[in-house]
Amino acid sequence: MERKFIDLHSHSTVSDGSESPTTVVRTAAVDKNLKALALSDHDTVEGLDEAYAEAEKHEGFELIPAIEISAEYGDGTIHILGYFLDRHSPELLAKLKVLQDAREERNPQIIAKLNELGMEITEEEVAEIAGKGVIGRPHIARALINRGHVKNTEEAFDKYLAKNGPAYINKERFSQADSIKMIHDAGGVAVLAHPKYVHGGDLKGVEELIASMAEQGLDGLEVFYSSHNKKEVKWFKELADKYGLIATGGSDFHGVTKPDIEIGTGMGNLKVSYEEIIPKLREKAKSYQ
Ligand code: AMP
Ligand code: ZN
Ligand code: FE
Ligand code: FE
Repeated sequence: MERKFIDLHSHSTVSDGSESPTTVVRTAAVDKNLKALALSDHDTVEGLDEAYAEAEKHEGFELIPAIEISAEYGDGTIHILGYFLDRHSPELLAKLKVLQDAREERNPQIIAKLNELGMEITEEEVAEIAGKGVIGRPHIARALINRGHVKNTEEAFDKYLAKNGPAYINKERFSQADSIKMIHDAGGVAVLAHPKYVHGGDLKGVEELIASMAEQGLDGLEVFYSSHNKKEVKWFKELADKYGLIATGGSDFHGVTKPDIEIGTGMGNLKVSYEEIIPKLREKAKSYQ
């Protein structure tokens, strides 16, 4: 069967996904018969070499080098996806190192807070759960689950880890403009991820953010997303058109961390077209290369 559909948002074990880059790519190429997949781990491109090695084995399948960067937004954070960037760019790698170091500083502080709150978890435990990759709050949530302090990831975030929660620790991030620039400088296009989740879903606030990011050089908006309903897709598509942004889409697959999301199909209804998106993204990326 001809490959037609794509997934431009996925995570592996090098950040907070549960599956290796090889497995993520194989699932996309074989089980889901996708035409393209972007592996977009948080603040790291370290999974891409392994992902390419697997992608080459599947005819007609394309791996799109990607990243998901946490950037400043008021006193919180937004996620910016980068596509077609040069994963070997020394400038990019140096900036990512800053973000990774900020995580390394934050994680022990979160664990210390949890200990103070009476929950015994250790840095070693969390490191073991995370494996060799970038450590994130979902790994800390997993440690809390394993110890029986909470039932699931949602509860861990709701009770402790979410912004304003008792174990929340802010971490250093780059501004939106600097994050967009760091993607452009590495030859990639910058796309605002899951707009549904910025500004607590307040649509007027989201439009203001999109307008201001468009002025700072944002190239695209993640219109198609696992948990966007039809109305939200329509609304975000209109905003993408209004501000001259390419409408992209992806599942945000994380494996068992988000068990109801599958590669390519999301929660069942996701369908993202290669033809309508990839040529535009590629052309835009060329303008930065
Ligand atoms: P971190 O990278 O450590 O800031 O953690 C961010 C990740 O935690 C996000 O990419 C989500 O996968 C996950 N996350 C954030 N908020 C929640 C939530 N309320 N429930 C479940 N997972 C969440
Ligand atoms: Zn994640
Ligand atoms: Fe995200
Ligand atoms: Fe993501």
